[in-house]
Amino acid sequence: MAECSLANGTTKSRSSNKTPPTKDGVTAAELFLDEGLTYNDFLILPGYIGFAAEEVDLTSKLTRNISLKAPLVSSPMDTVTESSMAIVMALCGGIGIIHHNCTPEFQSNEVRKVKKYEQGFILDPVVMGLDNTVADVFSAKARNGFSGIPITENGHMGGKLLGIVTARDIDFLSRDQYNVKLSEVMTPRELLTVASSGIKLKEANDMLQKSKKGKLPIVNEKDELVSLISRTDLKKHREFPLASKDERKQLLVGAAIGTRDDDKERLEMLVNAGVDVVVLDSSQGNSIYQIRMIKHIKQNFPDLQVVGGNVVTTSQAKTLIEAGVDALRVGMGSGSICITQEVPAVEPDVKVVLYEGQHTPKMMAVGRPQGTAVYNVAAFASGAGVPVIADGGISSVGHITKALALGASSVMMGSMLAGTTEAPGEYFFSDGVRLKKYRGMGSLDAMETNKSSASRYFSESDKLKVAQGVSGSIVDKGSIHKFVPYLIAGIQHGCQDIGAKSTESLRDMMYDGDLRFEKRTVSAQVEGGVHSLHSFEKRLY
Ligand code: IMP
Repeated sequence: MAECSLANGTTKSRSSNKTPPTKDGVTAAELFLDEGLTYNDFLILPGYIGFAAEEVDLTSKLTRNISLKAPLVSSPMDTVTESSMAIVMALCGGIGIIHHNCTPEFQSNEVRKVKKYEQGFILDPVVMGLDNTVADVFSAKARNGFSGIPITENGHMGGKLLGIVTARDIDFLSRDQYNVKLSEVMTPRELLTVASSGIKLKEANDMLQKSKKGKLPIVNEKDELVSLISRTDLKKHREFPLASKDERKQLLVGAAIGTRDDDKERLEMLVNAGVDVVVLDSSQGNSIYQIRMIKHIKQNFPDLQVVGGNVVTTSQAKTLIEAGVDALRVGMGSGSICITQEVPAVEPDVKVVLYEGQHTPKMMAVGRPQGTAVYNVAAFASGAGVPVIADGGISSVGHITKALALGASSVMMGSMLAGTTEAPGEYFFSDGVRLKKYRGMGSLDAMETNKSSASRYFSESDKLKVAQGVSGSIVDKGSIHKFVPYLIAGIQHGCQDIGAKSTESLRDMMYDGDLRFEKRTVSAQVEGGVHSLHSFEKRLY
């Protein structure tokens, strides 16, 4: 029995029939008992730290047969994932899913580029022809930040190599010389050091060092340019111990497809290009079309991993698991560019300018808060051994840790990775800020570009297309070579605070009831953010 001091100096025994709780907070099952919660609505309570953060093993399943060392997936959106993003995601331990808002030829070629990627060899450099001008080189430099450009007969990769233009060839030219043709300023082929295709990276590296040049073009037996290595790349000495690779040591890559008949042809081209996993891209995946497609894939390509979705309820998940999916993509209405959940608050043709922190009007009245969706679907799917990908609504590294703590095996991100160097599209400036475009695949903007995007949101018979996403822009975030390692370190620190040495033990702790959660009031959210400062600078890594 505890004693407490009274104001008059005496003491009084505090008697209570209640035994103090031995554990703070509630279990995940208790947390999600009634109303729907998003990642911001709760916190995970800290545990005991008995190991260093970098010891935390983040290995997790993407699908039944594919494991990743970093549980991070880039979304199949045309402003997020093409080959450049997919290559670096895989090098850093995650995976990229190539979007399908393009022709099957383009998509399968992007898959092929990832599968053929050899670390250090640049397969897709900027190439120009003899008729390009010095001005073209300067504008390529402004866009891409480099100026060593190979010149080929046809102005493209695969053309006969004729020379190279580097910064030193054009540095001292005055503005009135910007229209000079590259044929006049380039270093011609006979003065170049080149290597033959088939050369190992180590040998190419040695050649480049000895030549003291900035670039080493690699040519085939017909003297056609097949790749390039760059001194600046090699100087970075990048090693990728976490890289996601298949048994032939090629990088892993995924691709999204729809569920229409013509998607079967696209699927075959992707399989021929070497795709490891296909994602059936639908905002509501519990459909006869998706079940038919899953069965078609399992019959014709039994080794190919299939991700079904999107789903947010256990009954949706049940149908797709029974149809044979290897993983489920969970999320409906949680994406940063999504307007799927509610009725519009504005006339359809009114342009809404959004500011940071402001919310979009939502359209369709259907969806589920992401925390609740991930917890419920993951709990159900784990019984069948089917991993869950938490898709959408991730806007900080803490959200990733929360998604994993709710049972997701990996997270899929759009806005977090948009605006990076590796995301498709060019940077532009607005009010002095360097930006890249980021748009929902259900935005009118995306649906007008290619009909594949529309297939995610509409069936064949739909006459009028109603937007389910917006088109916007994201601030330049630099390269994901730096950003993804920051995310990985952040998750490791979160797991360390919780006392979970791996993502697997994080999930076990949650299902055993040892992981404790607490709801977060609006004022708790304010308290948890930066507050009471006149101004501050937010630098994350
Ligand atoms: P974010 O990471 O919050 O930006 O969300 C990305 C996710 O939003 C994607 O992986 C898709 O599941 C989803 N999404 C993409 N485009 C749209 C759209 O136009 N409307 C609704 N959801 C979308």
